[in-house]
Amino acid sequence: MKKILIAGNWKMNTNVESSTEFCLNVLEITKNMDLKFTVLICPPFVNLGNCISILKDSNVTVGAQNCWYEEKGAFTGEISVDMLKSVGCTYCIVGHSERRTIFGESDEIINKKAKALLKSGLKPIICIGETLEERNSGNTYKVLFHQLDNSFVGFSEEDWKNVVIAYEPVWAIGTGVTATPEQAQEAHHNIRKYVAEKYGDIASQSLILYGGSMNEKNALELLNLDDVNGGLIGGASLKVDSFVSIINSAEQILNS
Ligand code: PEP
Repeated sequence: MKKILIAGNWKMNTNVESSTEFCLNVLEITKNMDLKFTVLICPPFVNLGNCISILKDSNVTVGAQNCWYEEKGAFTGEISVDMLKSVGCTYCIVGHSERRTIFGESDEIINKKAKALLKSGLKPIICIGETLEERNSGNTYKVLFHQLDNSFVGFSEEDWKNVVIAYEPVWAIGTGVTATPEQAQEAHHNIRKYVAEKYGDIASQSLILYGGSMNEKNALELLNLDDVNGGLIGGASLKVDSFVSIINSAEQILNS
C-alpha cells in the first residue's frame, strides 16, 4: 500500500486559544476514522504543549517546525531536540525555505539538526526546493541534488527509514501557484532516483512529500501521483475544513 503522510505547517500562526480550538475540532472529526496513514500538525513551539495534550490518544500526531542541534547550553532563544521529545513531538521540519532564506540556514546546519533529531528518535522532515529563477534558468536539479548531497549526508540505512523528504518548490509556497501534476511527479521521480543512485534501495521506501499551495481542491490529484507520498501544507492546514478535506483525499486514495 502507498505510504502517505499529511503534515500541516502552521508557521507563525495561531495562539493557545485558536490552536486549542483547532485540535478539539480535528479530534472530534477524526476520532472514529480508521486512518491508514499518518496525520501531523506542526504548531509554533508555544502551542505544542496544549496541542499534544488534546491529541495525545488521537489519530493526529504533533511535531515542531524547527530545532537546534546542540543538546543544551548558551543558545538563547533556541529549542533542543530533547525539549521537543520531552513535550511529546514525533517529527520536526528542518530546512524549510523560509528558514534557509530569512534565517540564513545552510545545508550544513540543516544536516546537523536532522542528525540530532534522528539520534533522539524523532523524524526529520527535510525540505528542499528551487526558486523560480533557478527553475527558469534550467537549474532545478542542480539545486535539488546539491541540497540532497549536503543536507542528507552521513545518514545510516536505519536513519534513512526515518527521514522524510519534502519537495517544496519555493515559487509555489504561499503563492497560490501549485506545481502542475507533471512538474511535481517529474521532480519527485528524479529525487527518488537520485537518492537510489546515491544511497541505495532505501529510496523506494522514502516518503517524499509535496509542498507548495496544496489545498482541498488540488490534493487528490497531487497525492495520487506515483512518487508523491503526502503533503506538507501551510495555509490550508490552518482551516479545519480544508485540512480535513485533504485528509479525506488521502483516505480516498488508499481505499481505492
Ligand atoms: C509550507 O509552509 O511548507 C507550504 C507549503 O505553505 P503553503 O501550503 O501555504 O504554500
